[in-house]
Amino acid sequence: GSMRFFHQIQELEGIPVINIHLWFDRKLQNVDHLCFSRSPLLSVYADMSTTCKEYYDEEKSMLELVFAPCSPIAGGKTNWIAKSNQEIVDATMLELERLFPLEIGPGSPDGVGAKLLKHAVVKTPRSVYAAIPGRNKYRPSQATPISNFTLAGDWTSQKFLGSMEGAVLAGKLAAEVVTDKAVYGASTKGLKKIMPDVIQEAKTLSAKEPVGAIDGESAVAYGAGAVMTETEEKELAAIDPEQMVKLDAYSAAPAR
Ligand SMILES: Cc1cc2nc3c(=O)[nH]c(=O)nc-3n(C[C@H](O)[C@H](O)[C@H](O)COP(=O)(O)OP(=O)(O)OC[C@H]3O[C@@H](n4cnc5c(N)ncnc54)[C@H](O)[C@@H]3O)c2cc1C
Repeated sequence: GSMRFFHQIQELEGIPVINIHLWFDRKLQNVDHLCFSRSPLLSVYADMSTTCKEYYDEEKSMLELVFAPCSPIAGGKTNWIAKSNQEIVDATMLELERLFPLEIGPGSPDGVGAKLLKHAVVKTPRSVYAAIPGRNKYRPSQATPISNFTLAGDWTSQKFLGSMEGAVLAGKLAAEVVTDKAVYGASTKGLKKIMPDVIQEAKTLSAKEPVGAIDGESAVAYGAGAVMTETEEKELAAIDPEQMVKLDAYSAAPAR
């Protein structure tokens, strides 16, 4: 029973995402809000020096940007996780020339514009599960076949995708399972139905030693994001080799 329940999780695949922090030498035009960008590489961004108390600064902007899609499974053509931090920052600055045409790059009054003082590139090789069609049915219930083991997390079964809303709702549902067990002795919702294909596959499986993510000590070994040093890159290449495959839509294009 447990095998089929946990085997369905194999159908959910975490996608890479990169978060970029940029500190500038001056204040850019900004709005006190999270912005969706029209750039194909940058999904959302905010000027933290305006939107966030901890970074508040009237003289200098600090932008936080979500760099995505950064791999084919997320709908991109380039594997940005395998690229250097400098390459990622350079690509971001080019996009910012389009988003801030009068303040960054050749369109600014002095032909250069705002300068970058420092940056941080946080790579999360396996973030939220890929919301490709047909995944919802494989998301497990918070209740599991193991009586004293309950799941939470944005990827577990609930009405939202992998998101802050999903994380909060999944946490509430997990708490309900735990309190139901305390009050009634069992989860009142029971287990979610498992798909026939998973049940079929699970028949031939047997328990084995864990591999992969538990090897290594760095944040990426635990599925988290990090400013990757050589150590993290080596661990990632060992536990999740496809992340380090070089794939570049531009260089892969046939020569003209
Ligand atoms: C760059 C980026 C941008 C995003 N932007 C948005 C957005 O704009 N809007 C939105 O709604 N969502 C966004 N998301 C998604 C959102 O952040 C997640 O859906 C949400 O944080 C998931 O919450 P969670 O509690 O399920 O998991 P997490 O927040 O991932 O919590 C899991 C925790 O478990 C810890 N952990 C892991 N392994 C172990 C272990 N072995 N022992 C102890 N602890 C462990 C981890 O350190 C982590 O703290 C974004 C995600 C990323 C990466």
